[in-house]
Amino acid sequence: MSASGNSLKDKKTATKLAHAGRDPQAHNGAVNVPVYQVSTILKPSYAAWKEARQPGYPGYIYGTKGTPTSRSFEAAVAELYGAKDVFATTSGLAAVTHPFLGLLQSGDHVLVTDSAYRPCRAFCDGFLSRYGVATTYYDPTIGAGIADLIQPNTKLVWTESPGSQTFEVQDIPAIAEAAHEKGCLVGIDNTWGTALGLDALGKGCDIVVEAVTKYIGGHSDLLMGLVATGDRVGPELRQTAKLIGDTPSGEMYALANRGLRTMKLRFEKSFENSLKVAAWFERQPLVKRVIHPGLPSHPQHDLWKRDFTGGAGLFAVILESRDDAAIGALMDGLSFFGIGASWGGYESLILADDPAKFRTVTEWTEEGQLLRLYTGLEDADDLIEDLAAGLDRYARIVK
Ligand SMILES: *Cc1c(COP(=O)(O)O)cnc(C)c1O
Repeated sequence: MSASGNSLKDKKTATKLAHAGRDPQAHNGAVNVPVYQVSTILKPSYAAWKEARQPGYPGYIYGTKGTPTSRSFEAAVAELYGAKDVFATTSGLAAVTHPFLGLLQSGDHVLVTDSAYRPCRAFCDGFLSRYGVATTYYDPTIGAGIADLIQPNTKLVWTESPGSQTFEVQDIPAIAEAAHEKGCLVGIDNTWGTALGLDALGKGCDIVVEAVTKYIGGHSDLLMGLVATGDRVGPELRQTAKLIGDTPSGEMYALANRGLRTMKLRFEKSFENSLKVAAWFERQPLVKRVIHPGLPSHPQHDLWKRDFTGGAGLFAVILESRDDAAIGALMDGLSFFGIGASWGGYESLILADDPAKFRTVTEWTEEGQLLRLYTGLEDADDLIEDLAAGLDRYARIVK
């Protein structure tokens, strides 16, 4: 619903982002839903209190059970994803854990892509295992072949496309078809694609999680996650979230609501910058490979083009040499790329990593140094100039 109460269902994404989840006249005309920073919510009478205790009561009961600020965010995201239900969590990682916590029980089995966000693996290996849930990792490019790995007790197939370090694009519709045929649900960490780049529910996923921390937040100053579900998922996910009490603060919801309004412009600019910078990297002599799903050189570029309408400004570059001094010289002298984790903000970032360290069923055979780059909202030519000087420093040492 929009501010005027009209349906946004058939409207374009940009219009939804500007209008979904807002009701200014319910808040004295304030354009943004104010920050409800609240634990106790008072009822005016004994009768009203009793009414609020009824199952399915639509009003406000307590801070952890929803406020106008949180419901505004949930409604806007549900509109964007075309989701049946949406709830938010205190971090993106918390959102990743919810489908596992809410849908599985002791004795169950899950399939998780080998390219999954590393803390997701740590959760499966270090937490789920203690509660009798077994995890099998699979090749991210497996596609319909996932059917062969599904056991009678497999309940969930977990995907992440593209993986946020190595950027394999998964054939989500093929995985979903195979999984559904065997009665499994499919979940996706859609932090790279977001609702703007990948219609994950439309492509067959049942559960979508996203780190709001990244593009919805957009300014590197909030931690939050979201879980959006389609028709196949019952109320058990949200009920589990309630049992756990994992609720963001009013301020975080308000920042997320504000971020949504400008997200499309930021998301598209960041992606456009990444394509320019990635294409430039491909022409540099000491660069062995650039891994960006939006470039024709990417092994699953056609799959990406078929399923995605955009993406994050996040990609990887493989340099010829792993010489530490040379990598340091490149990274330390950069003016516009911060050295740090996360992404989705206005400023560009860079980090060095070794994917070989956290894979178990697929092999990472690249011998050169992987750099992960995030392009923010700066001018692409300035970013390229900065990186060119960095590659010069690198070249002086490795040559
Ligand atoms: C950042 C990230 C998360 C976790 O988000 P936090 O809010 O930092 O916990 C989950 N998945 C992916 C792919 C991410 O990039």
